[in-house]
Amino acid sequence: MQKMNDKNFVQKPKTLTELSVGIRSGRTKSVDLTNSYYERIAALNPTLNVYLSLTKERALASAAKIDALAAKGAELPALAGIPVGIKDVLVTKGAPSTAGSKILKGYHPPYDATSVAKLEAAGAVILGKLNCDEFAMGSSNENSAYGPVRNPVDIDRVPGGSSGGSAAAVAADLAVATLGTDTGGSIRQPASFCGVVGVLPTYGRVSRYGLIAFASSLDRVGPFAANVRDAATLLNVIAGHDTMDATSSQRPVTDFTADIEKPVKGLRVGIPSEYFGEGLDPEVKQQIEKGIDQLRAAGAEIKEVALPTTQYAVPAYYLVATAEASSNLARFDGVRFGHRAANADTLSAMYRRSRDEGFGAEVKRRIILGTYALSAGYYDAYYRKAQQVRRLLAEEFLTAFADVDVIVTPTSPIPPFKLGEKTDDPLAMYLADIYTVTASLAGICGVTVPCGTTSAGLPVGMQILASHFNEGTAFRAARAVEAAQE
Ligand code: GLN
Repeated sequence: MQKMNDKNFVQKPKTLTELSVGIRSGRTKSVDLTNSYYERIAALNPTLNVYLSLTKERALASAAKIDALAAKGAELPALAGIPVGIKDVLVTKGAPSTAGSKILKGYHPPYDATSVAKLEAAGAVILGKLNCDEFAMGSSNENSAYGPVRNPVDIDRVPGGSSGGSAAAVAADLAVATLGTDTGGSIRQPASFCGVVGVLPTYGRVSRYGLIAFASSLDRVGPFAANVRDAATLLNVIAGHDTMDATSSQRPVTDFTADIEKPVKGLRVGIPSEYFGEGLDPEVKQQIEKGIDQLRAAGAEIKEVALPTTQYAVPAYYLVATAEASSNLARFDGVRFGHRAANADTLSAMYRRSRDEGFGAEVKRRIILGTYALSAGYYDAYYRKAQQVRRLLAEEFLTAFADVDVIVTPTSPIPPFKLGEKTDDPLAMYLADIYTVTASLAGICGVTVPCGTTSAGLPVGMQILASHFNEGTAFRAARAVEAAQE
């Protein structure tokens, strides 16, 4: 087992292509591969706290099925035998699905999320459920009721959030690829913090059926992988219309890997000055500028674009997201799901105490904020205003995308910070979401790709945004950045 020093647990997984060749030829047995991942998980999980639960029986049964098919020489599906992990906000039949919350401790859902079912139908082996911030609320994974995940690059630092487990699993090779969710940055920021690739698909591209809702107009499911091609391959599998999610798009899904190697010569890359000003760490800035120079050297045309409403994005996001959360989380009342307070005298005491005992501090803060924003007398001042900002942001992006194919920014203004560094200052934590919440509000897609490191060796991620349903273009630009680092 490769271990660079006491604080670094990074190991690049084999690529999907390499593994697939082995499995298809019968040289690699899926069962052996699965067991080797479980061994690595047993060794590293006590330190990294990436997995909340394992689905061993299910995984080994899928793996055995793949091996039997391979032995018969049968045609194998796209992800045959590939070990993957699932963020614990996506439900899995008969297996714990806690959303990182105490309130859902012991909840074993009766069905699979569509994205999970699609992965498995494509042959993927589901290793287990990944740690995350409670109900996906957070930017550091420190809001998980089950303890923080540690960043495999430096275990004294946070992996980002809310999909911290999904990012760390790929970085430490505890899964070849994973699923996470992104409401305001929860795929992109942890991917950036852990030095892996993360994808924000267009809103509607991937079904939300079986995703435990945080903010339904913003929530998206997307993949993490160690390289751009693997991430695109996963998106191929999970994308597409689902009759169980009325907001999922009817658009046909094209092969997202098709244009990945296409040169970026002539690709128009927009740079918004709003993402390069105050608050941006100088070392992050330097790495992103180097990445932009590499795109220019590869023939891309670099242009300025204006996104002036960016300055209102964080307050708008934290109003819309908390308003929706306050409504979505009303269902956790101790009656149908998870935790119920013992010995309550009345029904309302049972509701109150179940919620008080089951929810963590950040979730309570958001329910209170959201309830306030929606209350009579404040609705116009807060929620309606936030929706207006959302509309302006979306229009600005559309105007920008009339001139450019992609927009490039840092994914996070700062490199991964130390555990505990920001837990006492929720506002500082919220402000760090500045570069990711804009695309969330606008519904557009994007990819974050590793783009150098700081002098301390901490990963920097470049965010590459594209207009609605143009994931392929974002992948193409991301691949060029990735190739320039190789
Ligand atoms: N950090 C943001 C928040 O706390 C985003 C979370 C997410 O995308 N799920 O709301």
